[in-house]
Amino acid sequence: MTISEQTLTRPRGGLPHGGVLVDRRLDADEAASLASGRLASLVLTAAEAADLRALASGAYSPLAGFLGAKEHQSVTEQMRLPDGTLWPIPVCLGLPEGVGVGDGRLGLRDAAGRLLGVLEVTEVFERDRQAEAELVYGTTDPDHPGVARVLGAPARAVAGPIQAVLQPLSGPVGSRALTPAQTRAAFAERGWATIVGFQTRNPVHRAHEYLMKCALEMVDGLLLHPLVGPTKDGDVPAEVRMRAYEAVLGYFPPARVLLAALVAPMRYAGPREAVLHALVRKNYGCSHFIVGRDHAGVASYYGTYAAQQLLASLDPAELGITPLAFDNAFYCRRCLSMATAKTCPHPERDHVALSGTQVRAMLAAGQLPPPEFSRPQVAELLIAASQARS
Ligand SMILES: [Zn+2]
Repeated sequence: MTISEQTLTRPRGGLPHGGVLVDRRLDADEAASLASGRLASLVLTAAEAADLRALASGAYSPLAGFLGAKEHQSVTEQMRLPDGTLWPIPVCLGLPEGVGVGDGRLGLRDAAGRLLGVLEVTEVFERDRQAEAELVYGTTDPDHPGVARVLGAPARAVAGPIQAVLQPLSGPVGSRALTPAQTRAAFAERGWATIVGFQTRNPVHRAHEYLMKCALEMVDGLLLHPLVGPTKDGDVPAEVRMRAYEAVLGYFPPARVLLAALVAPMRYAGPREAVLHALVRKNYGCSHFIVGRDHAGVASYYGTYAAQQLLASLDPAELGITPLAFDNAFYCRRCLSMATAKTCPHPERDHVALSGTQVRAMLAAGQLPPPEFSRPQVAELLIAASQARS
């Protein structure tokens, strides 16, 4: 079979959400000429800057900018954009007191004053943060890290289409921060028609590896796609995680897995965010998406299976990516293999299972968790990072 025949017979990835992959990138020359003009400025938080990057790269297709009042209300209340397109979480840009919008175009800058992008202002509106917390996050508890960010945002938000420079990122994350167009091209080059995406903000232990391998038994390729944007205190830093993911890659055939970084903020919005995570992976070219227990949850705000249930309740054609719901995995000493409650009949005392708290305590004390729980190469990296921090 020739290359061109393969191209004809192999679908080149499914359609992005909304049908078109958004591209709002600004090249360095365009940015420089914009920056030299008289441009009113807005300094973005780290989370807003990560959202800007996701908007510009098409990760949030069909969004091409920050949401306005009507969109905010529609997404908050209906989980849909005003045109009916499924969209689970408002992506908003706060406008602090005293910041003007100038002549209708805002330069978006980081804390160091570097120009990240430009916003064509279409609207300034009062953001109903209380409704957003209640309906999107299911709680107004300020102890919830995502809710704290919403309630702590300015009362006013500024909306409109954006353009942004995708600045190269440094460190082990930088070279892996691929755009949706880049992962789609990589999948096509490898001839993958079916791709499963795995979202994580944590180090990958044997249990996650098992879920990825179960999924990979059924599809052509795996996109290991850790989120590397702002997370909450206590989560393992992205640079450390990337090295740990690279160690895990040694347990997959190189031709069947792609490790890429998703620069986006974590919202801990549970079920709603699980939908967002699925749609983002659809934009990156995935056909399938792994959804674990309490996906994107934090503490005990969401039901164990709430995220899986919300995804299952959506019209599959509209969702456009197939969720693969998984239970918690563990090593079973009697099965002599990794398993879940779906596949292992043995009692808990036969399982090698550690809580997150137990694992963190072991790593902080420099102890390797059992190899049935964590690959030693991964654990050693986490121990070194844990000890460097303390
Ligand atoms: Zn068993």
